[in-house]
Amino acid sequence: MITQSEHFNIRAFNTFGINAQCDCWIEFTEASDLPVVFASMTSDRYRCIGQGSNMLFVNDYHGTLLHSRILDFDIEHRDADMLIRIGSGMPFDDVVSKCCEIGYWGIENLSGIPGDAGAAAVQNIGAYGVEIKDVLVKVEAYDTFANKFVDFSNDACQYAYRHSVFKDHENAGRYVVTHITIKVTKNGGPLLNYGNLKAGLERNGNITPMDVRKLVIETRNAKLPDPTKVGSAGSFFKNPVVELADYNRISTIVGTSVPHYPMGDKVKIPAAWLIEQCGWKGRTIGNAGVWHLQPLVLVNATGRATGEEILALEGEIVRDVKEKFGIILHPEADHIY
Ligand SMILES: Cc1cc2nc3c(=O)[nH]c(=O)nc-3n(C[C@H](O)[C@H](O)[C@H](O)COP(=O)(O)OP(=O)(O)OC[C@H]3O[C@@H](n4cnc5c(N)ncnc54)[C@H](O)[C@@H]3O)c2cc1C
Repeated sequence: MITQSEHFNIRAFNTFGINAQCDCWIEFTEASDLPVVFASMTSDRYRCIGQGSNMLFVNDYHGTLLHSRILDFDIEHRDADMLIRIGSGMPFDDVVSKCCEIGYWGIENLSGIPGDAGAAAVQNIGAYGVEIKDVLVKVEAYDTFANKFVDFSNDACQYAYRHSVFKDHENAGRYVVTHITIKVTKNGGPLLNYGNLKAGLERNGNITPMDVRKLVIETRNAKLPDPTKVGSAGSFFKNPVVELADYNRISTIVGTSVPHYPMGDKVKIPAAWLIEQCGWKGRTIGNAGVWHLQPLVLVNATGRATGEEILALEGEIVRDVKEKFGIILHPEADHIY
């Protein structure tokens, strides 16, 4: 079924809670709706949206937003493994919750990430050392350029950090994800090497996927704002990967050791640390702010922030970090104009 609304307010469809509207909003419940939608679309300005949890609507969107309501959830058991084919409109955390409830391993570390299943595969969501690429078997999509349905194997998705073939510049607007298939297993075990998960689960007895899920959610809640209460897009900036010489230069500037992770012959520096060093943690400008517990997260501090206010705050932070450290921060969230 296809439903269409003109001049649609999207405040409830972006986790920043920006009060913006789009010219046209289309929802579809079946993959077979898509050829019909594209045959009748009058504007060639469109994009897909899930829960808008990685988007900043800077202004109103003069085009069509396409929102999947495909909610299929089909399970195929193969010995200890389970293949699950999921509609792109299903909230991914519902999938995580179901798998943990029935004791299947693989996606418990991805607990609590907002967003729908389709976007999860586009974004290659990740947390606590696990990415969706680790369990993804297949992505089904509608190719709007060739007007046909196509399947992508895990390899064909060309996954990298928060990146997939669907995000390549030349594929902008090309694919609408309809379903994803993931593989989870009864025979797995906890992956606790990241963050302080291990310390949180040090106790006797068997650890279950649900134990890990609960701990991950607890850990996330302790530092991230709850999108139902405070608007944000999660981590707003990417962590910069810099040359060793830059790392040494920054260490000299601050006169102390700089947190970092080796990345080949370069190093990754937490953007949160750079932002905090510039005094931005917990600061607000007008209605936009920097989360007091995690400076990587920009927030709609009063609930009344406009996209332009968040953009202005982003600009100030980028300017300060560049002035102090000579490093240019890049946003992770998509900016929609
Ligand atoms: C509080 C908070 C915490 C977060 N924590 C994490 C985290 O730990 N790890 C992490 O990886 N991310 C995290 N995020 C970011 C976000 O949750 C993910 O990027 C998520 O996958 C976005 O899902 P969405 O449905 O909201 O997609 P949207 O933001 O609506 O869209 C994201 C991208 O996917 C495209 N897209 C959406 N649906 C489709 C479709 N059906 N077909 C084709 N393209 C599509 C959109 O065009 C856009 O380019 C967090 C966000 C918030 C607000």
